Amino acid sequence: MQNRKLLIAIDGPAGVGKTSVGKALASKYNLGFLSTGIMYRCLGWKALKSGVNLQDEEAVFQIAKNIVWGFEKEADSNLKVLVDGQFLGDALLSEEVARAASITSALPKARAVITDKQKALAKEGGLVMEGRDIGTVIAPNADLKFYMVASAEARANRRVLQLKEKGQEANYDEILKSIISRDERDSSRKTAPLKPASDAILIDTSTLSLEEVINKVLELSRTNAS
Ligand code: C5P
Repeated sequence: MQNRKLLIAIDGPAGVGKTSVGKALASKYNLGFLSTGIMYRCLGWKALKSGVNLQDEEAVFQIAKNIVWGFEKEADSNLKVLVDGQFLGDALLSEEVARAASITSALPKARAVITDKQKALAKEGGLVMEGRDIGTVIAPNADLKFYMVASAEARANRRVLQLKEKGQEANYDEILKSIISRDERDSSRKTAPLKPASDAILIDTSTLSLEEVINKVLELSRTNAS
């Protein structure tokens, strides 16, 4: 797979390892890597900051419409997302912003603005895109589609470890609750719900280490690539 216009889709719920796997694939095939959830987190962050009701579709649509997006490729192939020229970094990683992203991303009008931008990026190709609806909506013609799953408990455990490694507080029960409610909201919404594309390769990572998952995906990409 040497085509620079290649498009690889990775979907699945929160905390399943999509980013680590996506970055490994991107560096293997010399592609860019875009976490589309970051764009929804930026929208959630802006909505929180402006103080609008997160369910107010028109207000959130106005915010989405006025965002000027920027994308900068970093050394590890990651596309750094800029909002109105600003890099929001760690401010996007809180559970509060994740929740706001999950609520505002379910509003069809606001979602459509971001979806259009992502479709344009997918059309250019040369990317691994990670999210919830890449294989189903953003890039239904992707060259390769993966759908990753893991039990909510396994994902909560990983998140606790990640936070502890960073020296941050981590409450397993709260994290598990937040993962389950985000899964429910993302899977049950009417627009672009979280679900595998019919032609996606399913990978259950519950009992695998990150290294095992990456090796498996790299192997599958070799055997399934057209
Ligand atoms: O992947 P991440 O946890 O950063 O995504 C934050 C939220 O953004 C998700 O819970 C989901 O509601 C939304 N999202 C989405 N579609 C995507 C990526 C993320 O609706 N393609």
